[in-house]
Amino acid sequence: MAVQQRSAFQQLQKKEISLDEAIKLLVNANKDLDLGYLDQQLITSMKPNWPRDKALPLVFSENTLYVACSEEQPDAMADALSPLVNNFKVVLVKVNKASFAKAVNPAPKVATTPNGKPAPAPEKKKNILGADLQKTIEAIPAKVIDATDENAIGREVRDLMGNAAKVGCSDIHFEPSEKFLIVRYRIDGVLRDICKYPCSEQADYRKIMIARIKIIADLNIAESRIPQDGRVTEIVNGNKLDLRVSTLPTLYGEKCVIRLLPHENSFTELSNLGMEQDMIPEYESWLGMSQGMVLITGPTGSGKTSTLYTSLAKLVDTTRNVVTVEDPVEFQLARVNQVQVNVKAGLTFASGLRSILRQDPDIVMVGEIRDKETAEIAIQAALTGHLVLSTLHTNDAPSTVTRLIDMGVQPYLVASALVGVVAQRLLRRVCQHCYEDYTATPEELRILGQPEGTQLTLVRAKGCQNCNNTGYSGREGVFEIMHVNREIKRVIQEGASLEKIRNIMTGNNVKSLYDVAVEKIINKKSTIEELLRVVTKDE
Ligand SMILES: [Zn+2]
Repeated sequence: MAVQQRSAFQQLQKKEISLDEAIKLLVNANKDLDLGYLDQQLITSMKPNWPRDKALPLVFSENTLYVACSEEQPDAMADALSPLVNNFKVVLVKVNKASFAKAVNPAPKVATTPNGKPAPAPEKKKNILGADLQKTIEAIPAKVIDATDENAIGREVRDLMGNAAKVGCSDIHFEPSEKFLIVRYRIDGVLRDICKYPCSEQADYRKIMIARIKIIADLNIAESRIPQDGRVTEIVNGNKLDLRVSTLPTLYGEKCVIRLLPHENSFTELSNLGMEQDMIPEYESWLGMSQGMVLITGPTGSGKTSTLYTSLAKLVDTTRNVVTVEDPVEFQLARVNQVQVNVKAGLTFASGLRSILRQDPDIVMVGEIRDKETAEIAIQAALTGHLVLSTLHTNDAPSTVTRLIDMGVQPYLVASALVGVVAQRLLRRVCQHCYEDYTATPEELRILGQPEGTQLTLVRAKGCQNCNNTGYSGREGVFEIMHVNREIKRVIQEGASLEKIRNIMTGNNVKSLYDVAVEKIINKKSTIEELLRVVTKDE
């Protein structure tokens, strides 16, 4: 057999071999699995709850994932795996038991590379089989509680909620895995493992604790096969917590996520969000307009909602009718009429917006523009005497224009309605108690666009008690603001190429997201790791 360096999946992707040939390379006629042709990238791309000891992804082709498993596994495993890969079809390729066991638990002494030489790096083998991820589970502190004591379970769940609120966690994840129920907190936008509950037949916390949470959130505990969601207010340690609870059936049971919603008005000043002082007057002038559209853009978790609420809070007064249509209503604002999208009942962004416009509004906030219909109604409203605020998912401010046009909105309508666009990201602020100074390396100077040889002090995250050992505490918005001035309006009407809009912005000395983020790194507000995690240079 020819020596082969590349995985069967890679060869298939390059169309050098057919799907049949790829499978034959991986699994021979004796049903032996050839480890040399496995695709490490494909394997490591599986979600953490993928059962690495039972199923080994081989190739992905035409919306179908081909997965090796031991011949003793039931055919039904394919259906159980499908939800873990966004419901793509899963086809099982059964291999003989011994060969599969060897693939999952390789004896170190027989490990060889595809070209027959002894494997120099045993870590690589482990990585193939998800052993590194397995280790991360081992490292999570295990907790045991009396599974027969209803009160103890209830206390445990409430403790998890109380501690979450204390450390500024936005979401609590309860993740069923093969042997544990794992709990993770999202703090400042990043998930971290908190604890795990070892599960046995007598004490299956994957069922017991999730059932308890479902009772608290008034969900149907008899139903575990379909996703559910609900909202509840709980008093924990004397603090009122607004919670949004959702469940999702996964391979090892229902996964549950509790979102902790802010219930006090934390949306006060744009400068508190991290908007640069020199941008605020410009942005506030947009909000002062009696008609037109202002868009906030960025990926999920970039702080768009906070910016929208802060903006709305500035606009609410006794003389104006402010109406929103949101999915979900994340925070209740005084004197604002908030409408919750309910797709099942036929209340969508588009239909809700249409009804709002019959109710004599002055200011309308649409949670998100996802489709042409919503975009067109929103633009129509913006052209007929209403100030419309909304969000869109694009990488930067100029792309918002092209996105609207791609949705099918006429360029002249975009040009007439759009007042301005804010693009944003959130950088984690380095913890003020424990950060360390250091001198930037030549590579870092290059990333930051600084001249070679510059003496520049940057900060590094370390971790202490104040920041839960993350090295970061709180977050800071990074903003790019694009005023749609006459020059940009003209370019939009002419069919707007992204490049042209960007050139105009550069010509007008508008700072890009990247430029603003770099300034924050140089001002020691955050680290270069955060910069690279959150913003890419081409944006
Ligand atoms: Zn710290």
